[in-house]
Amino acid sequence: MRVSHSRPPAIGDDKGEPSKGHASSDAPVIERDQQPATLDVCRRCALWHDATQGVPGAGPKHAPIMLVGEQPGDQEDREGKPFVGPAGRLLDDALQEAGVGRKDVYITNAVKHFKWTPRGKRRMHKTPAQREIEACEYWLAKELESVAPHVIVAMGVTALKAVLEEKSVRLGDALGKTLEHGGRVIVATYHPSFALRAPDAETRDSAYAAIVAALRQAGEIAARDRKRKPTRINRHA
Ligand code: SF4
Repeated sequence: MRVSHSRPPAIGDDKGEPSKGHASSDAPVIERDQQPATLDVCRRCALWHDATQGVPGAGPKHAPIMLVGEQPGDQEDREGKPFVGPAGRLLDDALQEAGVGRKDVYITNAVKHFKWTPRGKRRMHKTPAQREIEACEYWLAKELESVAPHVIVAMGVTALKAVLEEKSVRLGDALGKTLEHGGRVIVATYHPSFALRAPDAETRDSAYAAIVAALRQAGEIAARDRKRKPTRINRHA
């Protein structure tokens, strides 16, 4: 059963009202140095333009574990909530198998607007560019400061780049390792979409097993360090 989560005040009062459901040809306004108060008005990169709405993270205000994905998908873009589509269902299964409760995790994405390209009537996912990841680190930093998780599970290379603030990092180099950054423990794993869409069953199964293992590891680290005070760091200080 899916548990509903409140949105953090740091992200602002996103109304969730669709502003656009289609790609438009007029050039988007971009204000790279903008310091927006809410996702609705963010113009730090161009992705706001063709998305329905910004999708903030969700979960307990001070969850010990933060799960970071890449960006909202088609369904997340329409609903305004993270991980509510097929990848979210796989993630729910993995959390359950890992013995990690939803109450212990805050779930978000490195990039808050859906980047897509049209294919017929469908909106196909498009990987965010580095400049878009960096623009959206503004929001991830706010979430990290507000939630102050002890452990971050970076799901996929986009999340890993954002969490480590390192554009040249490769997921393959980080899988299975425990990293530290900004006073927090980082566990890297595959994005749930990879475990859904890998072409062969063996790859899908091993990716799913790796996600479960990473979540379990994050849960164990969080439990072990539960008595430690959360680290609050403003990365833009
Ligand atoms: S993707 Fe992030 S930085 Fe770009 S407009 Fe959306 S919220 Fe702002």
